Formats: sequence, C-alpha cells, structure tokens
Amino acid sequence: MKSGGVRLRFMAQSNGVFFFANSFPRRQFTYSMNLILFGPPGVGKGTQAVRLAAAHNLLHVSTGDILRTAIAEGTPLGNVAKSFVESGGLVPDDIIIGLVREVLEAKDSAKGFLLDGFPRTLEQARALDNLFRELGISDVQIVMITAPDRELTDRMVRRGLEQGRADDNVDTIRHRLEVYYKQTSPVKEYYEKTRGVKQVDGLASIEEVTERIEKIL
Ligand code: ADP
Repeated sequence: MKSGGVRLRFMAQSNGVFFFANSFPRRQFTYSMNLILFGPPGVGKGTQAVRLAAAHNLLHVSTGDILRTAIAEGTPLGNVAKSFVESGGLVPDDIIIGLVREVLEAKDSAKGFLLDGFPRTLEQARALDNLFRELGISDVQIVMITAPDRELTDRMVRRGLEQGRADDNVDTIRHRLEVYYKQTSPVKEYYEKTRGVKQVDGLASIEEVTERIEKIL
C-alpha cells in the first residue's frame, strides 16, 4: 500500500516536471484574452468591442466593418458582399470563413482577439472551432449581450439617421432580426453546449455595459 502510494506521487510529480519543462515557459509570457462578442443586431457589439479591444489590447475583428470597407472601396469581396449586406441577409459562409481565417492566421500569436459579428451561423461556428484547433487556440470566452427587439429596432433606426448605414432602415432591420433568430441564435445553443456563454444585459449606458462585461471576464 505504502510503496504504491509513493510510486503514484512520484509519477504525478514527474509528469508535472515534464509538463513544466515542455509547455509552461511558452505559455507563461504569452497570456492573452480571446473573446467572441455575440448578440442580435443593434445590441451594441461594435461599440463594446472597440472599448474592450482598447482596454485589453486585442485585435478587433468586425466582419461587418471589413465588409462595409470592402463595399466602399469596390474590392472583389465588396462587390460580392454588397447585395447581401444591403438587403440584410448573410454573406455566404465560405466567403466569411475564408476572410476570418486569413485574419487569424496573419495575427501575432501573442496578441488576443475579439470577434465581433462572427460566427453568425452554425457552419461558421463549426469552421471556427476547426480553425482554433489548427492554430492551437483553446482559451476563448463567449460573451453575449442581450436587449429586447423594440430597443434594438430603435437603436438601429437612430444609427441609420445619424450614420446613414444602408442596412439601417425599418424593412431591412426587420429582416436582419428574422435572420438573427433563424440563423444566428442557434450558435448560442451550440456554444452553451461546448464552451459556455457569459450573458450580459445590454439595456444600460455604454459605460455600464462595459463594466458588466469586465466583471464577468
Ligand atoms: P449588425 O449591427 O447587424 O450586427 P454588422 O455590422 O455585424 O451588423 O454586419 C452587417 C451585415 O454584414 C450583416 O447584416 C451581413 O449582411 C454582413 N455580415 C457581417 N458579418 C457576417 C457574417 N459573419 N456572416 C455573414 N454575413 C455577415
């Protein structure tokens, strides 16, 4: 009994040394935070993403911003994406997945990232998990911001008036919410079963929502 116990302790210890020697030094100085910001259109993901990325020195990847820039510049990506974005539908998965892959592959591996607006379908979520596996990324937190539809619509209508975004008009907004509930909300269940989802009520001031998120990270 006694010698068995000693042997077990020794094995655990030698495993510990092995682990320490091989992997600990690499991870010790490369701590970073990786976030996926999730939630319905108009909930404030973009606003919070900018604040969180600045506070934690994260690479902010907004698929919506990338697409809007591509459309404004008339690049091949923009020309393909234009009709989907302006009608409030989703740009095809293979295009978006390729785009996110390029961004994450090119990223400095020591720097954390914040994904805003991606994944938006189950297929994108599964492709992202494969990409994480390939790139050796495992520490990813999912933060979901919520708000009632009425508030989302009001915010997007206001943003449309202020910023002139082509998809911020009443008909397109309605379609974007439908697309969200049909195609994007299953992603929440997917993450609840796999990584866990940290939920934050987005019905508060910008500063208050940031504080609520900071508290649960
Ligand atoms: P929202 O304020 O609705 O969250 P975004 O700025 O994230 O808007 O995205 C605007 C539009 O860009 C979407 O309605 C969609 O057409 C397109 N888009 C953005 N991200 C994705 C994605 N991951 N997959 C497919 N289409 C996307």
